[in-house]
Amino acid sequence: MSKPSTIAIDGTVASGKSTIGALLAERLGYTYLDTGAMYRAVTWVALEQGINIADEEAITALAESVVINISRPTVDDGRQYTVYADGEDVTWEIRRPEVDANVSPVSAYPGVRRALTEQQRRMGRRGRIVMVGRDIGTVVLPEADLKIYLDATVEERAHRRHREILDRGEEADYEQVLASMRRRDRIDSQREAAPLRPAGDAVIIDTTGLSIAEVLAKVEELAQSPKSKVQSSNGRGRAVFRRLARSLLRLLFRLLTRLEVRGSENVPAGGPLLVAFNHLAHLDAPLVLAFLPRPAEGIALDDLYRVPITGQLLRLYGAIPVHRDQFDRQVIRRAQQVLAEGKVLALAPEARMSLSGALERARQGVAYLSLRSNAPILPVALTGTEKVYADWKRLRRPRLTLTFGQPITPPPPASTSQARRQQVADLTAEIMRRIADMLPPEYRGAYS
Ligand code: C5P
Repeated sequence: MSKPSTIAIDGTVASGKSTIGALLAERLGYTYLDTGAMYRAVTWVALEQGINIADEEAITALAESVVINISRPTVDDGRQYTVYADGEDVTWEIRRPEVDANVSPVSAYPGVRRALTEQQRRMGRRGRIVMVGRDIGTVVLPEADLKIYLDATVEERAHRRHREILDRGEEADYEQVLASMRRRDRIDSQREAAPLRPAGDAVIIDTTGLSIAEVLAKVEELAQSPKSKVQSSNGRGRAVFRRLARSLLRLLFRLLTRLEVRGSENVPAGGPLLVAFNHLAHLDAPLVLAFLPRPAEGIALDDLYRVPITGQLLRLYGAIPVHRDQFDRQVIRRAQQVLAEGKVLALAPEARMSLSGALERARQGVAYLSLRSNAPILPVALTGTEKVYADWKRLRRPRLTLTFGQPITPPPPASTSQARRQQVADLTAEIMRRIADMLPPEYRGAYS
């Protein structure tokens, strides 16, 4: 079986993409193309020519006409490659702070992306290439044999970039580097055209706290595996396990409980969906996942991964682990990825299982995800799971209800961050009200 020939590496600013990409290409004897250098070259020429960065038409025309060439290093001064713009060596100019400050708006113009993407694809078609950027796995080379997505916390990335600038003998202020990085992250991931996000089939690596050698070792291992293994490593087995688990759970619930399922017709047949259920017992998620008419991804507390059998089952199912009290970036990113692929994600908005059986105050994660991904929310109400074990001990079949409500459509995101925060709060209240409405009064608790 052949090794991957086209390798796409995407990731956030200073996540290590360029360093890892260049080293990997060297090890494999492949061509290395850092597409960020192309966007930077256009930006530098625009600044040099005094073109207004806000002038989309002029910048687009420039991107279409300027001739960018990236070659092996022509000078031994620490450069990874030499960049020419219209024949002029701009390798170091494109690393200047003015370029850092203006490259994200330039690369957000669809016309600029079209022009550069076309050139990148042409190079990609030749194969034996490691291409690095923001949208390589998603847009430029969606057929790449191996896709890698690198990330790290913004503070670690700012430290890396700060050190790089100092090492070059230039001056830099850490706080400024951090602020500029946050701004670029925001523009890169929120722009309409080819926003930064991991491809559905990318291998995600968090490089926080890892050395270059450690990341390189992981990436090399992936690049040495046969193509087909890389592509299907987490796909097929999981789908089979999930189908089996669903059938078995349905059978067990039918046999061992008196379950009533209502409102299945309310579940949209396609498109992204967030399923929000009230949380009474560990059996809630298996119950919802088994009877929801569509297969769904789930989120589970990482504590549960340490419980024997439960942990193994969660791993086989491929649930997304979340730390108690901490709905972190990694989780949000994975959740957004699931929704971006038009899949279903089930989770409990209450931070913890209710001890009394009554609704507790909800966290805002579900509403936040819905507004960010424009995914509708399906409110789901459960009763009876809190009494299951007590009933089973008395050899009784517990009475359970599972009610799927009408989906809630999120409003378009407001323009100011304050208004968006209010939208998240309002939507959270709406979800919980809708769940409460489907519950008997004694279950409504904080949302009576
Ligand atoms: O990777 P680097 O930081 O050099 O990229 C500079 C900028 O170019 C990024 O912040 C991003 O705005 C843009 N870029 C892009 N698509 C790519 C590569 C870079 O939009 N494929």
